[in-house]
Amino acid sequence: MAKDALVIGSGVIGLAVARELAHRGLSVEILTRDMPGSGASSASAGMLEVHFPAPVPPELSALCLPSRALYGNYARILRDESGVDIELDLEGTLTLATTADEFIALQEQSKAITGSQLLETPPSWTKMEPGLSPSLSGALFLPDDHHVNPRRLCEALLISCERLNIRIHRGVTAHKYILENGRIAGVETDSGSFRAGLTINAAGAWAGNISGLPVPLPVRPVRGQILSLRPQTPLHFVLHGPSVYAVPRRDGSILLGATVEEAGFDETPTAGGISGLLAEGFRMVPSLKDAVLEEVRVGLRPGTPDTFPILGHSGFPNLLLAAGPFRKGILLAPIVAQTMGALATGQTPPISLEAYSPGRFGRN
Ligand SMILES: Cc1cc2nc3c(=O)[nH]c(=O)nc-3n(C[C@H](O)[C@H](O)[C@H](O)COP(=O)(O)OP(=O)(O)OC[C@H]3O[C@@H](n4cnc5c(N)ncnc54)[C@H](O)[C@@H]3O)c2cc1C
Repeated sequence: MAKDALVIGSGVIGLAVARELAHRGLSVEILTRDMPGSGASSASAGMLEVHFPAPVPPELSALCLPSRALYGNYARILRDESGVDIELDLEGTLTLATTADEFIALQEQSKAITGSQLLETPPSWTKMEPGLSPSLSGALFLPDDHHVNPRRLCEALLISCERLNIRIHRGVTAHKYILENGRIAGVETDSGSFRAGLTINAAGAWAGNISGLPVPLPVRPVRGQILSLRPQTPLHFVLHGPSVYAVPRRDGSILLGATVEEAGFDETPTAGGISGLLAEGFRMVPSLKDAVLEEVRVGLRPGTPDTFPILGHSGFPNLLLAAGPFRKGILLAPIVAQTMGALATGQTPPISLEAYSPGRFGRN
């Protein structure tokens, strides 16, 4: 029997959307080419940062702010549902200035961000994070920017989906929408056709590769390389340097990232990418030279021409799009899930979708 909803993709967005739909009483199946939680979601740093990378346009912060506010409750509920702690960390972030000009830019930024705190002399930042170089020009503390462990988040969402009886078809690649009487009735895949009352495209960087729409979705892969390091002294805060960031994990490791590259669907790490991250990381925290290099991760972010996600009705009845979250898919997962849940059940979404409408690029 056809299910109510078919979700394509099992990254953080596909899993979060599927779980939300099941909670709202729909029967749901997921089609996924790769293992659940792989893709960009498993490479991600997990920052829940509204103001990064600055400047963030108001249309995007309007989506990021409510999603970040949902995270405290989301972490608690997911822990109850799955037994998995997603490691929500509320310590805040430090953005570092290495030159006088960068410090002037931080001063400007601080005026626009409520609750931010400028740190102007070395003891103020070395007291907070002893590994930082005293020769920085200053820092900006943002207490409201948090982070989670994205791999634990996907694990929690997957267990939750399984407990909600969502069937996950692994190793299945969707190729083409089934168009019947002007409606999308499901997808053709390499394992046959799958039909449902509603189809939701959450296929990450590959969302535009499913054919059958008059205009392909303008989602492109933006490669990110990121390193997992184990420093001798753990960091306390997320640190943002001029071109890299370091995110502490609860187990004492840190993620040092990330490159932002137009490299098509190539997911291989490069010597230049890794050496650039390390050189910038050493400038920010000199003692990272002694850290153990544990893992090189690569992910393809789902980018869009204007950097905003593509959310909502596709222009074809029965096809919803949860695509293009670019650098913010972890942060946006709760609000995207709520939005898809509302649209799937004929309710008003929690936010206006005008700025994220698929129609802004022409008819799909
Ligand atoms: C290095 C790096 C650091 C990042 N840091 C952050 C951060 O700190 N904070 C933040 O909010 N975001 C961050 N991001 C961005 C975030 O990771 C992404 O926006 C998010 O993971 C996208 O999730 P997704 O579910 O859309 O895509 P993915 O996680 O890539 O999942 C796509 C899924 O679709 C499946 N799929 C694809 N095509 C098909 C098909 N045809 N048929 C069936 N299945 C298909 C894949 O198998 C996969 O399961 C980062 C990304 C990278 C790469």
